[in-house]
Amino acid sequence: MADSAPVPSFLVQNYARNDLRFVRGQGCWLEDDRGRRYLDAFAGVAVCALGHSHPALTATIARQAATLIHVSNHFQIPEQENLAAAIVPQAFPGQMLFCNSGAEANEAAYKAVRVWGNVVHGGRKTRVISFTGAFHGRTIGALALTANPKYREPFAPLPPVEFLPYGDAGALTQAMSKDVAGVFIELVQGEGGVIIPPPGFLAHLRQLCDQHQALLVIDEVQTGLGRTGRAFAFQHEGIIPDIMTLAKGLGGGVPIGAALFGKQACDLLKPGMHGTTFGGNPLACAAALTVVEHVLKPDFLAQVMERSQQLDMGLRSLLGSSALAVRGRGLLIGVQLKSDPKPLIDAAREHGLIVGPSGNNTLRIAPPLIISAVEVDQLLERLGHAWRQVATIYET
Ligand code: PLP
Repeated sequence: MADSAPVPSFLVQNYARNDLRFVRGQGCWLEDDRGRRYLDAFAGVAVCALGHSHPALTATIARQAATLIHVSNHFQIPEQENLAAAIVPQAFPGQMLFCNSGAEANEAAYKAVRVWGNVVHGGRKTRVISFTGAFHGRTIGALALTANPKYREPFAPLPPVEFLPYGDAGALTQAMSKDVAGVFIELVQGEGGVIIPPPGFLAHLRQLCDQHQALLVIDEVQTGLGRTGRAFAFQHEGIIPDIMTLAKGLGGGVPIGAALFGKQACDLLKPGMHGTTFGGNPLACAAALTVVEHVLKPDFLAQVMERSQQLDMGLRSLLGSSALAVRGRGLLIGVQLKSDPKPLIDAAREHGLIVGPSGNNTLRIAPPLIISAVEVDQLLERLGHAWRQVATIYET
């Protein structure tokens, strides 16, 4: 057999993977199969809120695995009750539904919006609104709410959703009417370039949803659970959604998603109308409870804000006017460049730093929320080395 023959893979080739194999992680650090250490400033796409191998999370998982991993939703699951009881008082009054991912959380919300239009309002509310740049997941329903044509087009036809320009209050006023059943929005567009709408836009959206009896669904899959320095990103805006979806950081790496349905939305999904085999099983809920108990403490959130300011200032002094913008909230920060961030991401990896992309010209930095001040300095130092290596690409 020829030496150079590529090793065949048994995996579907739907990811453009880097040729790196991480074998262990500790805190904010990952180690690959050659023993090289990397500072993880991407946290598995904003997932590992408590970093890697956090002792409390590891102990919870081990304890719960040795006690009871899974029972179906045909039975009471006290771990779900405990988790909901830890989240709801920190968010807004309502009831929770647990699932396995962000896309599933948004599917559940989308189905509830359909019930709101079809059943509660007798079929008079048929329109669903989302925004340009939005990312809500890859299942058919969540994809219908996702704007990027590259993700959508191969899978047409998708359920009808209207896309309004993100942050455009005038377009929103014009588009809203009594036949709108629901509006889906991210408060920071995590995949769309780390974009935040202009001040006042969300209050305006809330007011229009109230006026037209449309459900406001806030997708906090990426921003929720302390990522922005508040428990939930809607708390920066002085508004309360009708439905909030969560996933990513919630399980600290154990797959779990959730939707919190507020007062007017919590009766929409009746027995038998929606469900999942794995969603909210004891293992996932016990893990998530440990994450929530750590992350939603005021001191923890204050630390996230301090590290955020340190990172923001460091990035500005490192990149100066070469970055078109440094923006974000808490530890979800985007650096907008003049072109594709890939060369910088690749160079950062060579310097032992994991960062990721957002949109087509933005570098995304979303480290574990436990990152220390020393580690933020190390992050900046490593990014500095990478930047000096590739800066000419971005200066032309
Ligand atoms: N919503 C937002 C805002 C996201 O960022 C993502 C994933 O990146 C999703 C939904 C989909 O989540 P999942 O990949 O867990 O299905």
